[in-house]
Amino acid sequence: MKKKRISILGSTGSIGAQTLEVIKLHPDLFEVEVLTAHSNADLLIEQALEFHPNAVVITNEEKYKKVAEALTPHFIKVYAGEKALPEIAAWDTADMVVSALVGFAGLRPALAALNAGKAMALANKETLVAAGSLITKTAMEKKAPVIPVDSEHSAIFQCLVGEPGEIEKLYLTASGGPFLHTAAEDFATITKAQALKHPNWTMGAKVTIDSATMMNKGLEVIEAYWLFGIAAEKIKVVVHPQSIVHSMVQFIDGSVKAQLGLPDMKLPIQYALSFPQRLSLPNAGLDFSNPLHLEFFSPDVEKFHCLALAYEALLRGGNIPCAMNAANEIAVAAFLEDKLAFAHIPGVVEKTMSAVSFIIDPDYENLIATHTEAQQIASTYI
Ligand code: NDP
Ligand code: MG
Repeated sequence: MKKKRISILGSTGSIGAQTLEVIKLHPDLFEVEVLTAHSNADLLIEQALEFHPNAVVITNEEKYKKVAEALTPHFIKVYAGEKALPEIAAWDTADMVVSALVGFAGLRPALAALNAGKAMALANKETLVAAGSLITKTAMEKKAPVIPVDSEHSAIFQCLVGEPGEIEKLYLTASGGPFLHTAAEDFATITKAQALKHPNWTMGAKVTIDSATMMNKGLEVIEAYWLFGIAAEKIKVVVHPQSIVHSMVQFIDGSVKAQLGLPDMKLPIQYALSFPQRLSLPNAGLDFSNPLHLEFFSPDVEKFHCLALAYEALLRGGNIPCAMNAANEIAVAAFLEDKLAFAHIPGVVEKTMSAVSFIIDPDYENLIATHTEAQQIASTYI
């Protein structure tokens, strides 16, 4: 494998930092071109001093001076502000861009990278949910491969290698999050500390709350729709609390292929970086010498209403998934700031989806406008 230069958008986050762990495991195969952070200047500086990228971006301009003073003496270029992200994402010195930003903020840099024909390892699912048509069209036109990092989509991607035939169904597995067994009437008293405690995965705050409401799985249904071009009714969610089977594909002959592994994001991240090759990953295998209990059952879409809303958004199409995503981002942020109860998150999303102006075939400007309008509507409800 030829050595790849990797740009990591969002290197200080959970996925970004684990991408650096993978790069550290294979210094002969990967090196870092660009690292970016929003405001965590200290970690960005630490990462840059260790991995010596060509450049870094800190989008919070107030932190520029600190980062520049620390890194300029080491001949690392330092840029600040949101505008720097799309410019740097398109640099031709990188072979691959890892999109590990959180939320709609990832859209512009992702489009810039794809427009420049960059191969993309995509973790930032909100971008695909909000702008799936635009992203896939751009990727296709520019022949830029989009390789999933999300564990479920990586599992499906791995199951589809060597399978040119028709797919009958995709089964996206879901841990069910911390409230799988919590009674619906107890949702009213759920606290931030409870919601931030995921049983199987350690992740950034936003995706952890999305997992607790199961909006994460809803976003992933839409993500799968765009990544694999499968009709919504063929994408099923299956609760699998052990998080060992990362997802499954059923073919037209009834055969089901699954990808299994420990719940560790380094595996899908590494596969996205090294595809089509596999590389070694220490301590990653399953131990079958002890009994392994794997359960699968249907989700409760009444208790986890966000999941039903995501299917509805996908069926309505147009700019509705974008509005749903924006409302969810605002609702989750409000919950994390103690301004909204956990049980009210789905209501804010549902009301915003009904109130937003519908656009059947949104372009980039329409999506920006929808995102802003939906955020305003959601804020008013909150
Ligand atoms: P984190 O919150 O841990 O990290 C987000 C990264 O983006 C950080 O580097 C952060 O910088 C940066 N960032 C945040 N806001 C902005 C902004 N407005 N402009 C520019 N940069 C910004 O998120 P995760 O790593 O958990 O998740 C990243 C994406 O991957 C999400 O879309 C998530 O759904 C998806 N994902 C995550 C998984 C996981 O295990 N964590 C699993 C599967 C998917 P700073 O640190 O300075 O704030
Ligand atoms: Mg996932």
